[in-house]
Amino acid sequence: MIREVDILIAGAGPAGCAAAYDLAQAGKHVILLDKRSFPRHKPCACGLTRKTLKALRYSVDPVIERVCNEIVLQSAEAATTEPDSRRARSTVRVKTRNPICAMAVRERFDDFCLQQTLLAARQGGSIELRKIDRILALRELPDFIELDIATPRGPETLRAPILIGADGSNGQTRRLVEQHGEAPSHDDGFALEATVPYTALPATLPNGAAPHDLVFDFAPLPGGYGWLFPKADHINIGVGAFAPATGASHAQLKQVTRALLLDYAQQKLGVTTLSHITGQQLGMGGHTYIPRGRVLLVGDAAGLVDPLTGEGIHSAVVSGQAAAAAILECDLNDHLNEVAAAYARHLAPLLKTLTFSHRAARAFYAQPERGFKAMRLPFMRSLILKTYADGLPHTALITALAKLTT
Ligand SMILES: Cc1cc2nc3c(=O)[nH]c(=O)nc-3n(C[C@H](O)[C@H](O)[C@H](O)COP(=O)(O)OP(=O)(O)OC[C@H]3O[C@@H](n4cnc5c(N)ncnc54)[C@H](O)[C@@H]3O)c2cc1C
Repeated sequence: MIREVDILIAGAGPAGCAAAYDLAQAGKHVILLDKRSFPRHKPCACGLTRKTLKALRYSVDPVIERVCNEIVLQSAEAATTEPDSRRARSTVRVKTRNPICAMAVRERFDDFCLQQTLLAARQGGSIELRKIDRILALRELPDFIELDIATPRGPETLRAPILIGADGSNGQTRRLVEQHGEAPSHDDGFALEATVPYTALPATLPNGAAPHDLVFDFAPLPGGYGWLFPKADHINIGVGAFAPATGASHAQLKQVTRALLLDYAQQKLGVTTLSHITGQQLGMGGHTYIPRGRVLLVGDAAGLVDPLTGEGIHSAVVSGQAAAAAILECDLNDHLNEVAAAYARHLAPLLKTLTFSHRAARAFYAQPERGFKAMRLPFMRSLILKTYADGLPHTALITALAKLTT
């Protein structure tokens, strides 16, 4: 038997929830599929910038563990072996009166967002959350999408005019859509993370950072950075590379290993063991994405992680909302590409920003030391900070970076 619904959404992360929330509020019947039961772990440092908090439809205060007004940026010269004076030259502290970034733990953040989403249905709308084992097949027919799914109760077929592919960087929808030649190009990054409880730290940290510092560190690897994100009772430590978006090679992606992360943890935090090391690809390259047909890719499935910063939750939320807005303004029985065209229109401002980011990432990561020098200039510092926190158009930033790196 084939079950028919208004909208199918694959993936209940930030992108899928953002879309489901707006659709259910507008009275649509949504089936939200996920292969995991929530709360579930997802590798992510869960730094929530001001623009992310603004984009969300509800306050996430209940799951915010810390608010950071300062970012510590470190260059490749900031190695622990450097004398103090030299180390100070390769560290930039950027402080503001307003919070730059809020810290949450991803497992709790996602579960909270999912619960808010499930409460969103208004005007007769509904969201049915379904745990599935996997998607078996996707058929795009002239008037609808059919999805064969494997569930704990056996195989099933679902039919809807539209499928929102929100199943992340390793999800199946992007691959299935690729078979039709409609998916964004693959340009993925890769990042590894672990947690270190404050109680496991030595009395003094080896390179002079404070335990609650929010650190972006361009030392550990080319084409990416290491980070320290302070939570309530632990530090989320990680390393990530964003090649080839940054002009780095696939070989550099392979440098993101457990050994690199362990080495980095030893250098920065003086710890020799790490628990909960997990990693995942970051969906990138979506700045060239042209939606087509009845499958709208959102978030990491569409490759929308910012290649300059590695930030992806903001894009996930904004693209999920853009897909919902497109669906709500179209008659779904109309011409095949009408919804896709509306989605492209709603997505355009985000893709424009990501295109700028792509260029900025290439300029910055090609010569991080020169890029880092730029950050020492007060006007560059405030521009970078505003772009990261608020998502200002990067035009001025690109121009300035281009000047400094050519
Ligand atoms: C180590 C690391 C650190 C990061 N740190 C940050 C950060 O600090 N700030 C930030 O903004 N971004 C960060 N990111 C990026 C961010 O995690 C992603 O961009 C974001 O999660 C994308 O959201 P999404 O909803 O598109 O996908 P996801 O969050 O990946 O959600 C996808 C959902 O789909 C489900 N799914 C997968 N396959 C299927 C399937 N076949 N069928 C049904 N469901 C399926 C999954 O279980 C999951 O629930 C980080 C990423 C990594 C890897």
